[in-house]
Amino acid sequence: MDLILSREYKASNKLTRILYLREYSNFKDRLGEMTNPRVVYVTDMVSCSQKRYYRLSYPELAFSFEPVLVLGNLVHMGLEKLLEEEGYKVEVEFEKIFKINGVEFRVKGRVDAINSSEVVEIKTTRTDIKIPLEHHILQLQLYLNLLNREKGILIYITPERISEYQIDREELDVSRILLETIENTVHPRWSWECKYCTYARICPYKVLSEK
Ligand code: SF4
Repeated sequence: MDLILSREYKASNKLTRILYLREYSNFKDRLGEMTNPRVVYVTDMVSCSQKRYYRLSYPELAFSFEPVLVLGNLVHMGLEKLLEEEGYKVEVEFEKIFKINGVEFRVKGRVDAINSSEVVEIKTTRTDIKIPLEHHILQLQLYLNLLNREKGILIYITPERISEYQIDREELDVSRILLETIENTVHPRWSWECKYCTYARICPYKVLSEK
């Protein structure tokens, strides 16, 4: 036993490279669309509108290879596989056209899982404090409104807790949320956002926390 513990192991890079290339190739495939000013993602509509503005100008800064994100993606893949066996369609992309001031915008989203009556949104967070989080509820409500479903399930897989919530659809003014996203009038949308923002180093709207 002592022999095993005291032995030095050679570093390896084989599997990490597979994980990296998967993340990078997904990012690269979306790069063209990410810089299209007529495309608005549902995730843009639940975030600071300045982030979308920066993504259109500096898309490369949006790439991130963080262990916590890789972990989250792997959990998604695993749970989606199980949901597929239960009859859900998974990783379903959709698009709705909205006309704002005479200009067409494509609102695009991708739901984790869906069947004829409900949408499932999977979240992996570092802690279970304050779940369900308000921006996750808004995201699911947008899916329900855009896809015309009455019920959604928001499931959190966190190190401390697996917890799911049933969310009933509430009517949202989707055009208003789209307008404030396109016109970039909510920066930030949530008080905590700047702390975790990739663009904080170049942003004049950054809200500085006292702590
Ligand atoms: S630093 Fe804050 S205000 Fe600026 S883009 Fe990021 S979240 Fe928005």
